[in-house]
Amino acid sequence: MLGLMMAEPLRVATIIEHAAKWHSDTEIVSRLPEGGIHRYTYAAANRRSKQLAQALLKLSTENGDRVGTLAWNTHRHFELYYGVAGIGAVCHTINPRLFPEQLVYIINHAEDRFLFFDLTFLPLVERLAAVCPTVEKWVLMAGREHLPAQSALPGLCSYEDLLAAETGDYEWPTFDENTACSLCYTSGTTDQPKGVLYSHRSTVLHAYGISLPDSLGCSALDVIMPVVPMFHVNAWGLPYAAPLNGSKLVLPGAGMDSASLYELFESENVTFSAGVPTIWLALLQFMREGQRQFTTLRRTVVGGASCPPALMKAFVEELNVTITHAWGMTETSPLGTGSRLKATQLDLSSTEKAAVLAKQGRVVFGVDMKIVGDDGHELPHDGVAFGDLLVRGPWVVADYFRSGTPGELTSDGWFRTGDVATIDPDGFMQITDRSKDVIKSGGEWISSIDLENLAVAHPAVAEAAVIGVHSDRWSERPLLIVVRRPGMELSADELLNFFRGRVAKFCEPDAVEFVDSLPHTATGKLLKTQLRKDFAGYSVA
Ligand code: AMP
Repeated sequence: MLGLMMAEPLRVATIIEHAAKWHSDTEIVSRLPEGGIHRYTYAAANRRSKQLAQALLKLSTENGDRVGTLAWNTHRHFELYYGVAGIGAVCHTINPRLFPEQLVYIINHAEDRFLFFDLTFLPLVERLAAVCPTVEKWVLMAGREHLPAQSALPGLCSYEDLLAAETGDYEWPTFDENTACSLCYTSGTTDQPKGVLYSHRSTVLHAYGISLPDSLGCSALDVIMPVVPMFHVNAWGLPYAAPLNGSKLVLPGAGMDSASLYELFESENVTFSAGVPTIWLALLQFMREGQRQFTTLRRTVVGGASCPPALMKAFVEELNVTITHAWGMTETSPLGTGSRLKATQLDLSSTEKAAVLAKQGRVVFGVDMKIVGDDGHELPHDGVAFGDLLVRGPWVVADYFRSGTPGELTSDGWFRTGDVATIDPDGFMQITDRSKDVIKSGGEWISSIDLENLAVAHPAVAEAAVIGVHSDRWSERPLLIVVRRPGMELSADELLNFFRGRVAKFCEPDAVEFVDSLPHTATGKLLKTQLRKDFAGYSVA
C-alpha cells in the first residue's frame, strides 16, 4: 500500500524559491574578482537565477546539457548553481587550479556546451578554447565593460548582458528528482579525473543532512562563509544549506589569503565557516602575528584532509573558535562524518574529549559505513582494527559519469572509498591513511597521518608529509619531509627526538628531509605521488 502524501519531487530550485519567499531580505555578500563587494538578497538572487534560466533556454539549452564554470565563490556562481540546475541542465564546476591538460580533458569529457568564467581566468580560457570544440559559447562573469576589445573566444559575451535581456518572470519547472543537477570531477592525483554526477534528490537530501545540529549545523542565526571553493564539491553543500536555512551567505571571491578572509569575517559578522586545513593553518599564523581575535566567528568545519589536533587546540584555546573535524569525498557529496560529542562523552576529561574530537567522527543519517579486511569481512568497531572504509547512502556515488568501466562498488552495493580507517565503539571513525599512502614496515602498518599530525605539533614545523621509502630490512620505513616555520631553527635530530615516547618505537620516522615547500593537489591536499617521485631513490639503513 502506498502512502497518501504529496509526491513533490526534490529539486534544488525549490531551495532558492523557499529562501526568496521566507528569507527574502537575508543577504548574500560577495567579494568580486573584478573588484568591490556585491550585496543583495535571496529574493534578488532568485530573480537573477531565473533571468539566467531564461537566457539559457533562449540559447536552446536542453535537459542534461552541461554548463561549465571556472569561477570563484561569488553571487554569480551561486546563480549558476540554481539557474542551470533549475531548468534541468547540469552545472559543471571546474577546478581552475588543475593543470591545463586536465582542464581540457575534463571539459571535453563532459562535453560542456557553455563555459562561464571569472575575469581572473580570461587568459586561461583564451588558451583552452581552441582545444575545447564542444564549447559553443564563452561567457565572462562580469559586466560588459570588462570584455576584452578583441578575442577569439566563440560567442563571447558578458554575463550581465545575458541577464539584462531577460525579465526573471519565470516559474521553476517540475521534473524527476533523480535528474542530474551538477557535476564535479575528482582531482585525479593518480588517474584521469572522474566525474561525479549529483542529482537533485542527492543534493537536497545532503543539504538537509549537513544542516543537522550534530553535522555541520546551519541556522537562520548563522552568517556562513564557505572558504572551501564552489568548484570543490559544491563548497561542501553550503550554497544549498545556507538558503535552505535562511542563513546569511558570505562569498569570499578570489581572496582566499588570510588578510582578505579576516577582513570579511569581521566586516560581515561571520559566525560559521568551512575549509581545508591549509587555510586554517595560514590563518592561525596571521592571527598570532597580529595578536588578532575574531569578534563573531565561533565555529568552523575542517575537512578535505586530516585536521591536525594541534590546530584544533590552538583555535579553541587562543581564538575561541571550535573546529568540527569532518570527512568526506567528491563521491559522497561530500559529507560523510563529523566529529561531535555524544551525551555519554560529556564527563570525559578535556584531553579525552580532544582525542575523540580529533577523529573524523560519526556518520550523519544518510550515510552508512563499515570497515573491512582484505578478505572483505567486516571488522569490529573497537577503535583498533583498521581496514578499507566502505560507505553507502542516497548521496554516495553509484557510478562515475561516462566511466566506461564498472564503478567502485562492491557486489553488495558499498562504495570503496580508498581510505583506511578504524571505528570505535561509539561509532567515531578515524582515517589512518589513504590505502595508497599506508606505510607497510615489516608486516606492521604505520599511519602517515598520525606522524604528520605529530610533526606539525612541533612549534618550528609549518607543514609536514610522511611517505614510505625503501628499507632492505623492513621493506618500507617512514621518511618525514618538513617545511620549517619562517625564521625558526630546527635540526633533524631535534625533530626525531620529539617523536620519542610520543609514538610506538616502530612508527618513529627513520629520517627527516627539509624542503622549502610541499607539493599540493588542486584542492590543497598533499601530493604524495609527487613526493614519492622526488624521493624515489631514497632508502634508509
Ligand atoms: P576529494 O574527493 O578530493 O575531496 O578527496 C577525498 C579524500 O580526501 C578522502 O578520500 C580522504 O582521503 C581525504 N579526506 C577528506 N577529509 C579528510 C579528513 N578529515 N581526514 C583525512 N582525510 C580526509
